[in-house]
Amino acid sequence: MEQILRNFFLFLSKNKFFTKLAKKYGLRFGAGRFVAGESVENAAKVIKQLNQKGMVVTVDHLGEFIDSEQEARQAADECVEMIEKIAEHQLDSQLSLKMTSMGLDISEALVMENMRKILAAGKRHGVFVTIDMEDYERCQKTIDIFKELKEEYDNIGTVIQAYLYRTVGDIEELNAYHPNLRLVKGAYKESPKVAFPDKQDVDENYKKIIKMHLLNGNYTAIATHDDEMIAYTKHLEKEHGIPRDQFEFQMLYGIRVERQEELTAEGYKMRVYVPYGTDWYGYFMRRLAERPANVAFVLKGVFGK
Ligand SMILES: Cc1cc2nc3c(=O)[nH]c(=O)nc-3n(C[C@H](O)[C@H](O)[C@H](O)COP(=O)(O)OP(=O)(O)OC[C@H]3O[C@@H](n4cnc5c(N)ncnc54)[C@H](O)[C@@H]3O)c2cc1C
Repeated sequence: MEQILRNFFLFLSKNKFFTKLAKKYGLRFGAGRFVAGESVENAAKVIKQLNQKGMVVTVDHLGEFIDSEQEARQAADECVEMIEKIAEHQLDSQLSLKMTSMGLDISEALVMENMRKILAAGKRHGVFVTIDMEDYERCQKTIDIFKELKEEYDNIGTVIQAYLYRTVGDIEELNAYHPNLRLVKGAYKESPKVAFPDKQDVDENYKKIIKMHLLNGNYTAIATHDDEMIAYTKHLEKEHGIPRDQFEFQMLYGIRVERQEELTAEGYKMRVYVPYGTDWYGYFMRRLAERPANVAFVLKGVFGK
């Protein structure tokens, strides 16, 4: 049943009609639990609250189905605006973004132009930028873009997904760049031809790449809500004497908030991924797919308390 629900929500997340409808009608159905409002101001307020609780942030301007050059340029401008807001309010926040929202499905030249604009603004204001990883079809292109930009800018990182068979090879190859990587299990529906279908294999591969990247001496963001992976990282920290300034934990806004606070209290760097914007629908559906138990929460939002 859980698998059926998961596939159903992933299917819904790709629906253009619902995406447009959701944009028109604003944050609904309890999405506000996972999305920090629709404007830059809303996001800045949430970042400030998290900073006051001792947590750092990576903020993401949500954007799905970018079909025109103009929309991609607008998305890039919004990223620059967010970077300037971070600087203006002295917020402790990085920026996350997706290559499709920068125009990956339109032209790679457009992506590079948009990214250089954002990275230059980030460099000016000391804001680090992480390229989120999307579906398998876009993985190689994303890695190629990352490599090219990493030669020019040092305020850039990207994400590697443990569920892909290619991942160990990517970690090995990227080591030459000493990259700051966010390691995740992977959020998209992929074919068994390219990704482990079994959760146990994904978990094993996740542990493997956490260990590899840390022992290679690279900065590592362990982005998970899974206690087993957190405990494994702490075990590596002790066994190999890994300094705490070489890694951080990351979790999504609104998910396992108490655990986020506990890790902060234990002295670990805890970064919260804070999405905002009018394009909240696809992100919200992917969160429901990850944990269909959240549907009960949504139903409450629809039918009242
Ligand atoms: C900061 C951040 C950035 C991310 N960026 C990307 C990206 O760029 N590309 C990408 O593909 N994916 C990304 N992801 C999503 C990621 O790939 C996973 O889909 C997502 O994190 C779920 O996997 P998990 O590791 O949290 O654990 P899961 O395997 O989903 O869950 C393991 C265990 O964690 C606990 N748990 C999980 N969720 C909850 C919850 N809501 N409440 C209570 N307990 C819970 C439960 O005990 C559960 O059994 C990101 C995730 C984070 C945290």
